[in-house]
Amino acid sequence: MKTYHFKGILQNTGWKENAGITVDGTGIITDIFSIDSDHDVKPNVETYDGYAIPGFQNAHSHAFQYAMAGLAERHEGGANPDDFWGWREAMYQLALSMNPEQMEAIATMLYAEMARHGYTNVAEFHYVHHDKNGKPYANLSEMGSALISAAKTAGIGITLVPIFYQKGGFGQEPNDRQRRFISPTIDDYLQLLESSRASCKEYQHANIAVGIHSMRGVEPTDIAEIAKSGPEDIPFHIHVSEQLKEIEDSISYLGKRPVEWLLDNVDMNDRYHLVHATHLTDHEVNGIAKSKANVVLCPSTEGNLGDGLFPLRKYQEVGGKWSIGTDSHVGLNPLEELRLLDYGQRLISHKRNTYSSPQQGDCGMYALEMATVTGRKAMNNFTPEFFTIGEPLNANIIDATSPLLTTASSKNLASTIIYANDSNMQLGTISYGKTIVTNRTHHKYQSIVKNFATAMNELQSR
Ligand SMILES: [Zn+2]
Repeated sequence: MKTYHFKGILQNTGWKENAGITVDGTGIITDIFSIDSDHDVKPNVETYDGYAIPGFQNAHSHAFQYAMAGLAERHEGGANPDDFWGWREAMYQLALSMNPEQMEAIATMLYAEMARHGYTNVAEFHYVHHDKNGKPYANLSEMGSALISAAKTAGIGITLVPIFYQKGGFGQEPNDRQRRFISPTIDDYLQLLESSRASCKEYQHANIAVGIHSMRGVEPTDIAEIAKSGPEDIPFHIHVSEQLKEIEDSISYLGKRPVEWLLDNVDMNDRYHLVHATHLTDHEVNGIAKSKANVVLCPSTEGNLGDGLFPLRKYQEVGGKWSIGTDSHVGLNPLEELRLLDYGQRLISHKRNTYSSPQQGDCGMYALEMATVTGRKAMNNFTPEFFTIGEPLNANIIDATSPLLTTASSKNLASTIIYANDSNMQLGTISYGKTIVTNRTHHKYQSIVKNFATAMNELQSR
């Protein structure tokens, strides 16, 4: 048993001031109470002069890409267009060079840094499966196991999404630089999925989802087949419509846009998480919302790669649900993701009320609730309550002593945290009932950073 005292906790209905939360030995909440009341004095109390908000859900990650964050910003000029496709070549080089130990060291650093920024869960969209020659490891999910170990060391929850990757583009064989990613057939992929599911048993806070790289990465008939006959009780993640070229190629190969094809050929529901979905027609926007599928938006990466802006206002108007992810990890601050997403919309709509439904209410609260509840669905967690008895305590603690928060009234607190915050105000993180970040530092930082430095030194890429 352990009890935490906070200056306030955020519930779906608003703030509960001077609140305590007790957890059992497995991190499950057994009591939520007001400290002012005649509550029994509990043993083993940890007190924070901070506000607890639900732990952020990072619904899209490629851990190995953290090793190249900040390295793709030197532009040589000349014939190189420096677009998404040029960046992809640099990413392939990195993917080809990493061994499982280096993958684990890099992912552990990344997940510890995610925790420091308030993320308690990550959906790892994982496609570097095989050895450097493209041969499957004896343990098919060797690399997936490395990612699970990383999450375990960092102390955050992981949803491993082993990715089915088969093609080099619509109707094209894979190229040699993709050799570590490829499962040639549905059977090969299902074996990888089962092996990955077994690897999840190595950590109590690991679970599994099914994933397709993209419409260009897997033969569309196979996508429809996996959707129809694959597992139905776990989330389904897919990259879609991130780049205009992908849409042109889809139209010439299939006669349809990627999302248009999915709507016509896959019976989507709220298990589906469409990553990016940047370029959509109105028909596609309405279709996704109607199907109850979700989108995962990765504003810092989408901005960094020059993808474009998702039509968020239209999508929300028809009831569309979204979560956030950090994708290539060029940014790791969830508050920055929420602001970037909002400001992109403000800049093109000349309106300020992106996050409100229907066009009224508290933008900060709306963004937090959407990112939390939809993000959890990406992890196969359908709990809508921020903190509730019977569920694990996953919380991000915001410093209540900062000048703007100490003077904010409760009605402005959520938006002050979202809009006027920097990572320095993120005081600590509790994951599955355990404190893993205090005073802005991960509790295993020293050993994690040492292993990361060793891996980066071996890779010689930075
Ligand atoms: Zn991605």
